[in-house]
Amino acid sequence: MPHVVVVGGGLTGLTVAFRLKQFAPSVSVTVLESCARPGGNIQTEEQDGFRVEHGPNGFLDRTPAVPQLVSALGLTDRLIAASEGSRKNRYVFVRDKLRKLPGGPFGLLTTTLLSFRGKLALLSEPWRKSKPPEGDESVHEFVTRRAGKEAADIFADALVTGIHGGDPALLSVAAAFPRLPVMEREAGSIVRGFMRAAKKRKQDAQDAERRGVSPPVPAGPMKMWSFRAGLQVLIDSLANHLGDVVKCGTSVRSLSATEGPTRWTVRGESGDVWNADAVVLACPANEQGAILAELNPKLAEEISAIPYNRIAVVALGYRREHCPGAGDGFGYIAPQNTRRDVLGVQWCSSIFPDRAPEGFVLWRALCGGVHRAEQVDWPDDQLAKAVHAEIKLAMGVTGEPVFRKIVRWNRAIPQYVIGHLERLARIDALASNHPGLFLTGNAYRGVAMSDCVEQGEAIAAKVATFVDGK
Ligand SMILES: Cc1cc2nc3c(=O)[nH]c(=O)nc-3n(C[C@H](O)[C@H](O)[C@H](O)COP(=O)(O)OP(=O)(O)OC[C@H]3O[C@@H](n4cnc5c(N)ncnc54)[C@H](O)[C@@H]3O)c2cc1C
Repeated sequence: MPHVVVVGGGLTGLTVAFRLKQFAPSVSVTVLESCARPGGNIQTEEQDGFRVEHGPNGFLDRTPAVPQLVSALGLTDRLIAASEGSRKNRYVFVRDKLRKLPGGPFGLLTTTLLSFRGKLALLSEPWRKSKPPEGDESVHEFVTRRAGKEAADIFADALVTGIHGGDPALLSVAAAFPRLPVMEREAGSIVRGFMRAAKKRKQDAQDAERRGVSPPVPAGPMKMWSFRAGLQVLIDSLANHLGDVVKCGTSVRSLSATEGPTRWTVRGESGDVWNADAVVLACPANEQGAILAELNPKLAEEISAIPYNRIAVVALGYRREHCPGAGDGFGYIAPQNTRRDVLGVQWCSSIFPDRAPEGFVLWRALCGGVHRAEQVDWPDDQLAKAVHAEIKLAMGVTGEPVFRKIVRWNRAIPQYVIGHLERLARIDALASNHPGLFLTGNAYRGVAMSDCVEQGEAIAAKVATFVDGK
């Protein structure tokens, strides 16, 4: 029976293993996970009646990837959509005030976020003729070229801060937001590109309805989803389906290629050895680099050079009566260029039910990012105090927090900096010298949960074909 070892039991690695068992049932799969629990960035913890997400808060249904995985696991009935208010009410904290992000053209006309010139530049985007540069372009340069500098300073920064905890001037638009350059190329404009995408989403849903099958994604606007008990439900279900395939508390140290019927030898930190026909590395980039250091130092160096930011998640619980401004909304972003003590605050108990006990709210701040990495080293008291001060300023809370939970991520979110796609091309070329070695995870082609699931499924299909060909 062919044997495949997957290193890393985060969402990507678990998806690879789950789908591989479906695509190639005759293959034996082992997932080696260094932590005591699977899930990687995804973990939900309950404490004193508060339900805190350590990592992602939910997933977007931009593509069918996660909804289809959820359906394959039999969990669709347990999904919950983010509240209506959280879809409509999103804010940025600029010039010492929370300001609502415009939800459409009318909101753009009336917003106080942009000057008259800024609005004009943004609203004229569909008609703007602008040639992309030859090489890579940053997110900030791209948005400035398409919609003006003011839009880039506010909206591109809010987008990149919210998704990557990064800096729009450093990230490559083609790597971090690949859809945007494609929209520019194919629709001649980002606004037109989004309108076409929304139309296609609606059409696909209607076609599915006509055929009597469930639509790949709902017809309406994109939504965020989770489970009443948090994202842990997804991880627990994947782990339950995989059973003893997942070996926790097993850290992989190195990989070597041997001649003979079984090509790969995987070595664990404790001296354990696994032989495999194919190996999938789905752990963070620095770990992949360390594992590959002996096998191919050049490949290891390229992978290890993918940078990450550091993030501290600071969840605070308040009595509702102390939160006069406890809005019905998603929360707010404090753009990176403001260099404030928070990157943003998510109003968790307004987004999803059962995040806080009756009469309380749960808010979760993300601190650090690429420009304030030192915050992650602050002691708990200093972090909680700084976040409370920010929340007081933005939301006018009148009491102290009654609950706190702090989680530190020293390698939080990979940063797809300028040149990332060229680096991936070099990595692919170097890795192609090692048939049966597959590289995946959020360091490569998308950091969102939907990207990780898509990548995991694509790798599972490739591994199944490879093993079959052997
Ligand atoms: C604070 C935060 C908030 C986020 N918010 C969102 C959000 O709201 N929505 C969204 O879609 N995405 C969000 N993301 C991103 C998303 O959670 C991640 O990109 C995704 O979960 C990564 O999955 P992964 O499996 O690729 O990597 P990981 O989750 O990093 O998993 C890798 C696994 O490899 C294991 N490992 C490491 N070294 C070894 C070794 N040597 N041997 C064996 N195993 C090893 C690790 O323990 C880990 O379990 C967020 C991320 C963070 C950190």
